[in-house]
Amino acid sequence: MIIDFHTHIFPDKVAAEAIPKLEKAGGITAHTNGTRQGLLDSMTRAGVDKSVVCTIATRPEQFEPILNWAAKFADERLIPFASVHPAAPDCLDQIDRIKKAGFKGIKMHPYYQDFYLDEPRLIPIYERISAHGLILLLHTGFDLAFPQTRRADPARIVQVAERFPELKLVASHLGAWRLWDEVRDILCGREIYMDISFALDFLSPAEAGNIITSHPADFLLFGSDSPWTDQRATIDLLNRLGLETELQDKILGGNASRLLNDD
Ligand SMILES: [Zn+2]
Repeated sequence: MIIDFHTHIFPDKVAAEAIPKLEKAGGITAHTNGTRQGLLDSMTRAGVDKSVVCTIATRPEQFEPILNWAAKFADERLIPFASVHPAAPDCLDQIDRIKKAGFKGIKMHPYYQDFYLDEPRLIPIYERISAHGLILLLHTGFDLAFPQTRRADPARIVQVAERFPELKLVASHLGAWRLWDEVRDILCGREIYMDISFALDFLSPAEAGNIITSHPADFLLFGSDSPWTDQRATIDLLNRLGLETELQDKILGGNASRLLNDD
């Protein structure tokens, strides 16, 4: 079983416009056309059984349309995470609605949603997500489309994790994008989930392998960030690390399957 814990799609009508815009903003290339069908085709090519689809409400008003759209495309293979914007006045009620609607998790992005991980206004949000047992997948580290402000660095991730030990927190991009020295120094070894998305292309196999084998084996998740990397190519990069089979299986699907089914 292979589960990709970090993918993106857009509504069909939006994809054709959004993909070139995001390619330009980040200086990156999309490996699918950004649609649901594009992701499903990629999964078939790569042998990925299920994908977690991250949505991002870049404005508070996007909560409702994203929730409705995500509820519609959810199926056996696609597991949507909803999104709340921290500036929404009814943010906590929205988290209740996400839980009631049966979603497994929430994606938040400190750059697109203009917050710092350790801001006081985030505390009730983390509390509510944790109380519902929802997974919180956070974009962590820098983001290549934004100035390198420290919104989600390893020290901030640790603060959140220590304050909310019950929170099912996933730090993306192998802990924190482009802050991998700090990941190794202060995040590795802690029981905080990390997905490996959009990271292996930027590290040598030795550096990536070092972080992965220094982290608890049950807290690592395969992710591609599709369409921003190709799912098959990310699996190939993971294979190149020469990890032990048991660890590799946990990363590719075992841990994700446990985490997604733990309500
Ligand atoms: Zn992403």
